Amino acid sequence: MDSKLINEILAKSMSSDHVHIIDRLSEPKRDEEIAAELNMKETTIRTLLNDLHGEGLVEYKRTKNKRTGWYTYTWNKRNDKIDNYVRTQLNLKLGKLNDKLDKEENSTILSCSCSRVSLSEAMELDFICPECNETFHMQDNSSNLDDVKKEIEFINKILQTEGSYTVGGAL
Ligand SMILES: [Zn+2]
Repeated sequence: MDSKLINEILAKSMSSDHVHIIDRLSEPKRDEEIAAELNMKETTIRTLLNDLHGEGLVEYKRTKNKRTGWYTYTWNKRNDKIDNYVRTQLNLKLGKLNDKLDKEENSTILSCSCSRVSLSEAMELDFICPECNETFHMQDNSSNLDDVKKEIEFINKILQTEGSYTVGGAL
């Protein structure tokens, strides 16, 4: 999967700060190294790392300094888990879009100049809007549906590309 796309999806579902940390982990690093590189507080970095660890996107190795007795944490990103996470997010989004599509396709929407109402709402009002006194008319929501359909198509393409990429990589 395209790394720019992965970052975009991660930033949307977590935050851009989380993405900055993952970007820094092309090699294993200690929290204080990441903090210095990003010019952020170590406590902030640790909180962000904990979030990422909670999602399974990073792992750490703990080593004890024999002299001081203190622990050092070295962090690494887990590319396979990141890939899975992004896939899950895309599938969730896909589910929501499909629900939206179902709803739009199965509900009759009527409108006047000031609002949109369902068929049953319009019937209750005798098809006349109490606000603007206009008669409710059928709304053409096909352009709405086109946008949703395009987005569904786009996500499906990404998810499929990943599959064929794996096959290509195995050759
Ligand atoms: Zn109205």
